[in-house]
Amino acid sequence: MALVNEHFLKLPDSYLFPDVAKKINTFKVTHPKADLIRLEIGDVTQPLPPVVIEAMHKAVDEMADASTFRGYGPEQGYDFLIEAIIKNDYAARGIQFSNSEIFVSDGSKSDTGNIGDILRHDNSIGVTDPIYPVYIDSNVTNGRSGELGEDGKWSNVIYIPCTSENNFVPQIPEKRIDMLYLCYPNNPTGTTLTKDQLKQWVDYALRNDTLILFDAAYEAYIQEPNIPHSIYEIRGAKKCAIEFRSFSKTAGFTGIRCGYTVVPKELTAARLDGERIPLNPLWNRRQTRRFNGASYITQRAAEATYTPDGKRQIKKTIDYYMANAKIMKEGLENAGLDVYGGVNAPYLWVKTPKETSSWRFFDKLLYEANVVGTPGVGFGPSGEGYIRLTAFGNQDNCIEAMKRIKKWIS
Ligand SMILES: *Cc1c(COP(=O)(O)O)cnc(C)c1O
Repeated sequence: MALVNEHFLKLPDSYLFPDVAKKINTFKVTHPKADLIRLEIGDVTQPLPPVVIEAMHKAVDEMADASTFRGYGPEQGYDFLIEAIIKNDYAARGIQFSNSEIFVSDGSKSDTGNIGDILRHDNSIGVTDPIYPVYIDSNVTNGRSGELGEDGKWSNVIYIPCTSENNFVPQIPEKRIDMLYLCYPNNPTGTTLTKDQLKQWVDYALRNDTLILFDAAYEAYIQEPNIPHSIYEIRGAKKCAIEFRSFSKTAGFTGIRCGYTVVPKELTAARLDGERIPLNPLWNRRQTRRFNGASYITQRAAEATYTPDGKRQIKKTIDYYMANAKIMKEGLENAGLDVYGGVNAPYLWVKTPKETSSWRFFDKLLYEANVVGTPGVGFGPSGEGYIRLTAFGNQDNCIEAMKRIKKWIS
């Protein structure tokens, strides 16, 4: 008899996005003439930059010729891409890495989930709340999160609230945490930490022997000078942190699939007997046994984003999204709403007025202004009383949506 991994049974069927979709469909059926504006899109919408398309066409042609054909590549990624990553994303900021510290993959959803493979099942986990659901869910399936309580919290997860009360700066916990997930710029709140604020977490991790899992998927959206793009800008971080990066939001690769994970040589974790084990060779083992590399075509596409034209083209698209964010932030503030994020991230986190619940506000926004958002409570208990809007839509729609919201509120 084959027994199932019962931890998978603990995961509730995802309800957030299906429930949003259901409500949109019901609305469309009952209001066939209404023109909905979708500001809940959690995916990029602009096409890939031309340099990426050119690089992919070229790589496809190489695959068509026996003399340049590529089969299996290195599980860790091709050196041409790893070297471009090190040079542009790290050396340019004064951070040095050797090639073997970078692991190219098919994206950071997989990596942030898979990293748990090399860590014991009984580590304690900490997350800022609200948060990208993948961190907790991947720990549920390997038995680390415990049980889901009535309050929407998993019993073995330490939730660190980020709300308007603390200006979205998570408070350093009293308790020790073994594995801590940080995502900055943050999805869903769009907020960031300054260098000094992130340094406090690195210092906490060094003091408490905590492993920080730092998701920098939105790094390219940072506009302000004092916001770290990488956790390794903070001294000591190589001893306590793994960093996840993705080409998804940076260069529109959500459908192409490419990301990478940095596991510094200095980084260790303990065995039960206290012996320190370097995590870099352990992750290498995991990747070589269970992953066969991102495709050659994809890695050539990712490499092209680092050329001068590539950088210019990527910036143009990000500027487009961030112009949307600015229009939305100003529009929402003009309508008298409290809004966070949207300055260094493509997300706006809007406080619902008068203690309205996330879902109630979602419904009212849908039916009365014909604008769609995502209920904040779907990202964790501290998301109750907020709604997330994204800047990935079309600019004219953003402008029109703000007009509607202003008219609706007044
Ligand atoms: C979109 C996103 C990613 C990127 O995931 P990929 O699998 O690389 O597409 C990672 N982290 C967060 C928080 C995200 O929102």
